[in-house]
Amino acid sequence: MNNWHIQIKGSVQGVGFRPYVYRLALERDLSGVVYNALDGVHVKFSGSKDQAKEFYNVLIDKAPSLARITNHKIIQQTGEGYKGFQIMQNKTKGLVSLMVPPDFGLCENCKNEVLSSNNRRAAYPFITCTQCGPRYSLITELPFEREFTTMRAYQMCPSCMQEYGDPKDSRYHSQTNSCAECGVRVALWNHKGQEIENNSQSAIEKVVDLWGQGKIVAIKGGGGYLLTCDATNVKAIQTLRKRKHRPSKPFACMYPNMVYIQRDCHVDSSDLAMLTGEVAPILLLRLKKKSVDIAFEDIAPRLNLIGVMLPYT
Ligand SMILES: [Zn+2]
Ligand SMILES: [Zn+2]
Repeated sequence: MNNWHIQIKGSVQGVGFRPYVYRLALERDLSGVVYNALDGVHVKFSGSKDQAKEFYNVLIDKAPSLARITNHKIIQQTGEGYKGFQIMQNKTKGLVSLMVPPDFGLCENCKNEVLSSNNRRAAYPFITCTQCGPRYSLITELPFEREFTTMRAYQMCPSCMQEYGDPKDSRYHSQTNSCAECGVRVALWNHKGQEIENNSQSAIEKVVDLWGQGKIVAIKGGGGYLLTCDATNVKAIQTLRKRKHRPSKPFACMYPNMVYIQRDCHVDSSDLAMLTGEVAPILLLRLKKKSVDIAFEDIAPRLNLIGVMLPYT
């Protein structure tokens, strides 16, 4: 029996790497530790040469899809054997040699939960798991630990804690874990800074009403503020341009789903993969000639391209 040390560099924190390594080690009955450090993820464990080789190969080959590994190595070490396998917290501060992960768009599981009426996160806009949610926008320091993110202000409720501590749960060790009970509160304020709605569902419904009336609503989400209005309302878009002092620079258009995007824009398979993929960016697409409803000429004046996005939270 020997000790081994695997080092993995790249964009490997905030992507579910530690719970992934933990599960892999448990399946193989290996003892050791996994932790985030300022230069990536480190795994230390005890095992025979064959065990180490197999574990290392699988660990790299089957890494979480959100991870971007730039470098990895395994070295043999001496010392006492490990007992049990643990995820270690690491709060060491210092010089970082690590890629900060981007914000990730909503994954399918979270999307199903947020849209299902009998889920405890139904309609909770700040739903996340180890495979989705904001990272770049809320990381204040590395290594990636809740304490080094803006989520440190929110204490997890017992149900969230239970998920966080359960290796079988998709939110095992999810640093951004929260729910309506313990997480970010949804409320609506008027332009004078007075709170006019503090019930989450009513606030969201009120925003839809306000859009219908041609109003502009600033929405603070996981990735900062979005200034929003009805994309079919020319007057509202022009008011937004005036207030932003942005006479002609294009705005992006958020669509509810791909069906509407494909109705208005030319979408090839790589566009589709990007829009529905992990990062879910704003993508520039070419407009079809006979588009309906949307006030394209005011959103992207004199262009035949438009920046489109899908809801990402
Ligand atoms: Zn998710
Ligand atoms: Zn909670």
